[in-house]
Amino acid sequence: MSVQTPEEFARSRNVEVTNALNVLRPSLGNDAGVALYRLLRLVALEDIMGRGAAGTAYVAGKKLGISLGLKKLEDFLDLCKALKVGIIEVPLLAESHIRVDVYECVTCAGLKTVGRTLCHFEGGLIAGVVESIVKKRTRAHEITCIGGLGDKACGFDLELKPLVQT
Ligand SMILES: [Zn+2]
Repeated sequence: MSVQTPEEFARSRNVEVTNALNVLRPSLGNDAGVALYRLLRLVALEDIMGRGAAGTAYVAGKKLGISLGLKKLEDFLDLCKALKVGIIEVPLLAESHIRVDVYECVTCAGLKTVGRTLCHFEGGLIAGVVESIVKKRTRAHEITCIGGLGDKACGFDLELKPLVQT
């Protein structure tokens, strides 16, 4: 029998992606309201993290996007469909630049315009997934935002650079 290090022990208590997606709710089913997600994401987390919430949400999304281990862009589009993140369009797909538009964004569609972009988690998620698929360092910038800035879609400009070998 192998002995666990404290780090392994701590990790063994983390909720992994696959485990989080085990849902057993015989009466209520898989779906919860968009409202619950928004209250957690836009109200509760921003309330405790303040200005740091945007960066934290981006990094959390990026880590999650990488950890999904997706191999093809289509897999990501399927996941977005299943999770109802939004309606995803990719109007530009070039070597060093990708544009992703999210219509009916889960985070912000329908909000009274707030005056700043809001969908940092989604941006990070997209960047993480793209980085793991194309194996290039990927940064997403949210250029347009439905609920944040009053645009038609939440648009993310992805900048791709070679992964630096260390
Ligand atoms: Zn947005």
